[in-house]
Amino acid sequence: MSTVKKIPQRLCIGCGEMKNKKEMIRVLKTAEDGIVIDETGRKNGRGAYICPSMDCFRKAVKGKGLERSLKMAIPKEVYETLEKEMERIEGR
Ligand SMILES: [Zn+2]
Repeated sequence: MSTVKKIPQRLCIGCGEMKNKKEMIRVLKTAEDGIVIDETGRKNGRGAYICPSMDCFRKAVKGKGLERSLKMAIPKEVYETLEKEMERIEGR
C-alpha cells in the first residue's frame, strides 16, 4: 500500500480539539446498556469522543458536551460510572 491514509479525527467533547480518533475514547449510547464507554470501537449507536483524560472528562461534564453530543440528559449515576471508567483508563 503506497497511499497515505488520512487519519480520522474526532472532536473531543471536553477540550473541543480535533484529535486522532484512535487515541480517543468513544462514549456510546446503546439501546441495551444505556451510556457506556466503548473500548472496542465496534458497537453501534450514537457516539461521542473524548480524550482519555480526566481534565477533558470534567470539562465535558461541566460544559454539558456529552449531553449535547448524545442529545439527551445524562443522569448523575451515569457520570459517576463514566468517571470511574475514565480514571481506570487514564491510569493505564
Ligand atoms: Zn480533550
